[in-house]
Amino acid sequence: MFEWVDENRRLARARELWRAARAAPFYGRKFAGCAEPEDWPHWRDVPLLSRQELYDNAWPRSRAMLTRPPEGMIVTSTGGTTGMARYTVLTHAEWDRFCDEQARALRLIGVGPSDRVANLLVAGSLWPSFLGGHEIIKRIGALHLPISANIPVENVLRFCREFQPTVMMSLPTLFIFLADLALKDGITFPELRLIGYAGEHMSPAVRAHVRHGLGGQVEIHALAYTSADAGLMGYQCTRCAPNEYHIPTAFQLIEVMDPERNRPAEPGETGELLVTNLARESLPILRYRIGDRGCFTGAACPCGDRNPLLRLAGRAGDDFKLGGAYIGMNTVEQSVEAVAGQSGISPNHTLVIADEGNRLALELRIEAGDPEAAAGCAVRVVTELETRIPELNVARSRDYLARLDVRFVALGSLERSPVTGKVRRLDDRRVEEK
Ligand SMILES: [Zn+2]
Repeated sequence: MFEWVDENRRLARARELWRAARAAPFYGRKFAGCAEPEDWPHWRDVPLLSRQELYDNAWPRSRAMLTRPPEGMIVTSTGGTTGMARYTVLTHAEWDRFCDEQARALRLIGVGPSDRVANLLVAGSLWPSFLGGHEIIKRIGALHLPISANIPVENVLRFCREFQPTVMMSLPTLFIFLADLALKDGITFPELRLIGYAGEHMSPAVRAHVRHGLGGQVEIHALAYTSADAGLMGYQCTRCAPNEYHIPTAFQLIEVMDPERNRPAEPGETGELLVTNLARESLPILRYRIGDRGCFTGAACPCGDRNPLLRLAGRAGDDFKLGGAYIGMNTVEQSVEAVAGQSGISPNHTLVIADEGNRLALELRIEAGDPEAAAGCAVRVVTELETRIPELNVARSRDYLARLDVRFVALGSLERSPVTGKVRRLDDRRVEEK
């Protein structure tokens, strides 16, 4: 269903894009003095595009990255998950192409015209997900329930009970919340067969929690590996592992670079992903350092699709600093997951880190159906944290740790991003060290 394009055609298209990009003042300057890349080694000399460059040159602040005037375009926001919300513009034709690719991905995971699809994505604030959901459900020809995640969750539940969707599309934060409420109030969705999520990752423990709450037979799939700037970067077939994606080679050029040795990573070797979108000319994205790591598996997929398989290895920068060490947020996530499901405890959490008189104060807030009943599990979570993060014990022994508290709060009470709807996992309030 997704076209496969060989290396030569991919390079030819990338070269066309390189030529087109020079019409934008930013790329004109960036590529000045560079010869057109005529083979792969020369392509790898094309300078990389950083997030900062995209941010500094984003319209409406600047027109430097546009190859044409912004009339007749749609503006979308990239959200605030990385602390650097940006706007990006696409022509309506490019938007349509982005949606065509997304619709293909949804079809592949088995959504069809006979489905009733609840669009529980977030709308507004220029965030593209709800509108994108509308477009792709329309392309599939399924029954569309444009409920959104913007309304009170009681109303989301009411619509879902009334219309009995077979498919729900949303972000993990909301699926966790719906599962928590369903468990608390004994709500069931007998017709629901597939959950498609986007925007955040979903660990095996969270999947199990959501399946437990929303129905044991429910299939759970990532909608796609995607970004506002480059669109669909990976899609899943039914044989893909949760973090594995086929690359749509006719639409996207993905390179995996070994940054240490400045060469392409071998299959199986994890490196930094560089993304070149082969369709977008109005604001070209060439060799963009998307911030993700991954590897080509090098294996043929049993589904028969020739588009290569990419395995994502997690996002760089999803961590916090503790006494000189970088601690991955996955350690916190796993500590919460150790108790999630008991006494109505949810996997949704926020870690607040503060400075109290030059000492470190950590407070982990976790949602729970009955916070009082859950309080007994706090000690267990502290133990889990201390086991996974040995630096905590070091901080304690050096009297550097003011406190490490675990607090249970009501379902839905943790702060959600008004743009993306995601729960903020980390709230680091310490003054940045210079
Ligand atoms: Zn496959």
